[in-house]
Amino acid sequence: NVVAIDGPAGAGKSTVSRLVAEKLGLDVLDTGAMYRCVAWAALFELGDVSDPADVARVAAAARVEQVGTRWIANGVDVTETIRGVEVTAAVSVVAAQPAVRARLVELQRAWLDERGGGVVEGRDIGSVVVPDACLKVYLDAEPTARATRRAREKAGGAEISERDTTAELASLNERDRLDSTRTVSPLVQAPDAVVLDTTVLSIDEVVDAIVDLWRER
Ligand code: C5P
Repeated sequence: NVVAIDGPAGAGKSTVSRLVAEKLGLDVLDTGAMYRCVAWAALFELGDVSDPADVARVAAAARVEQVGTRWIANGVDVTETIRGVEVTAAVSVVAAQPAVRARLVELQRAWLDERGGGVVEGRDIGSVVVPDACLKVYLDAEPTARATRRAREKAGGAEISERDTTAELASLNERDRLDSTRTVSPLVQAPDAVVLDTTVLSIDEVVDAIVDLWRER
């Protein structure tokens, strides 16, 4: 009973996953937040993430928990901090570490076992974490559409300028490049995933399409 939702940054995965989970009465797991928590712990303890061995050591000891809608890393509520520029810039480097991935994949599978299923969003859910998920969605969008969405989210309703979008685009492109080219569990489209593109479809249309696919499964 797993809906796997993968795709690049800014495609709308979090919003779509939350709405799909509400409609289907399932819990939702944001695996990106887990990688962000480990990146935060590494930055907090090491100052930077340049040494793979140090990062692996911190990751092995990091405690990552979700309490309601809050994320707690090593006992600290980091819900807002993990969305900031420092963590965002470091997370893909941390997520490329095999030791980090092995540990978080184990936690993700345990989360699903406890519930007998759920909506899980990330980069490698359909390909690695739950290869036998009954529904796999690859949510995509053109880079400019994704950058605009991210810039709007950050502005929280205020006007955004072309400069905001350009800065966001550079950050997304770099993260996508690292996430797609890493050796372990890169961002890939699973062969049996349904591709939905939020450049042309609204969030509601995507959510309805996923709910329909789930009912037909
Ligand atoms: O989804 P979000 O943008 O919050 O993910 C942050 C980062 O975490 C990604 O850029 C990627 O490096 C990593 N990630 C991953 N595998 C996942 C989810 C996220 O490597 N399943």
